[in-house]
Amino acid sequence: MSLISKLPQVGTTIFTTMSRMAQEENAINLAQGFPGFGSDPVLLELVAKYTRGGFNQYAPMSGVSELKLALATKTQLTQGYYPDPESEVTIVSGATEALFAAFTAIIHPGDEVIVLEPAYDSYVPAIELNGGIPVFVPLQSPDFAVDWALAASKISSKTRAIVVNSPHNPSGYVWSQEDVDNLEDLVTQHGLFVISDEVYEHILFDAKSHISLGSNAKLRERTFVCGSFSKTFHVTGWKIGYCLAPKVLSTEFRKVHQYLTFSTVTPLQYALAEYLEDAEKYFELPAFYQKKRDLFLKGLALTPFQFQPSQGSFFQLVSYAHLSKKSDLFLAEQMTRQLKVACIPVSVFYSNGQDNQVLRFCFAKKDEELEEALHRIQKVASLF
Ligand code: PMP
Ligand code: GLN
Repeated sequence: MSLISKLPQVGTTIFTTMSRMAQEENAINLAQGFPGFGSDPVLLELVAKYTRGGFNQYAPMSGVSELKLALATKTQLTQGYYPDPESEVTIVSGATEALFAAFTAIIHPGDEVIVLEPAYDSYVPAIELNGGIPVFVPLQSPDFAVDWALAASKISSKTRAIVVNSPHNPSGYVWSQEDVDNLEDLVTQHGLFVISDEVYEHILFDAKSHISLGSNAKLRERTFVCGSFSKTFHVTGWKIGYCLAPKVLSTEFRKVHQYLTFSTVTPLQYALAEYLEDAEKYFELPAFYQKKRDLFLKGLALTPFQFQPSQGSFFQLVSYAHLSKKSDLFLAEQMTRQLKVACIPVSVFYSNGQDNQVLRFCFAKKDEELEEALHRIQKVASLF
């Protein structure tokens, strides 16, 4: 049998690999990004209410109206514009699906897509499965800001789209108004589409605010805003996300969604719609996570690692380039097996595996767990 792989370079993701290693080693898992605490019992009760209430058959293809409306209202409240719930909001099975469907809706074979690196692992396979060609633009150290002149220099007549992510996984960089303005120039000048991954939209520190690309009238016309409830409500296992896009883009997006999953789990959509009526549920997130980030940074300050405080997301990067040239893959494995704290080597977020001796920790964990992890990480000098 000669099966020609469409993704010959792809193996098991680092998130799966490191979670498995953490389990084998009985290590604290600060690798894969998921909260180490439960969701709000109020939300869980709502799920019980809707499952018991008989809301268990297929949802409408584009999502339950109540949830589309609740998302439009949230967008008005947080970003100052109101997407039309029926034609511009689509509920999907996680941001992963939103991203895949958005790429599939716009990429034709041979189209180039600008990818800012380090990049979340699902973008490139989704581009390549659609016959697209990723064109990489490195983010700038030390804070992983975008070099807009460099990005502009990578545009060709084949460039169809750019994928962006703020707050950024893995660096925690949060876009400024200037970044949005620069993107607007690039997009309008070259007629690009934008896939905007905004899954960490509600996790921001030091009074930073999230500027959704949908809030910019020019960008909105050409952007698929991809969001998720995974991080906002501590439910990564639910896989419910959404896409906000103008009607012409949403129409094409829905054609893909219709045959990718058709519709998304029904009772959870009703539960989330009712839960979203209380805006405090997402407005309280920055303060909740700021405490965890600060606790984590305080502990990291007692280690030889160098770091820039994360501005958003629930990840913190640390560099050990000044201490050792060990590969980040090797150090992440040693940390897991010897110090019993799992983390992610950041080289996996680069297409060419570029190793800058940087590790990523997820601090979305209970305080006691973070404290114990820090206690262990403080022994890291023994590995160099
Ligand atoms: N984008 C980024 C940047 C992520 O970190 C993740 C992982 N949660 C996703 C997309 C996927 O989100 P979901 O779980 O909703 O598919
Ligand atoms: N988004 C999560 C992270 O960056 C991982 C999700 C996954 O395991 N695919 O850690």
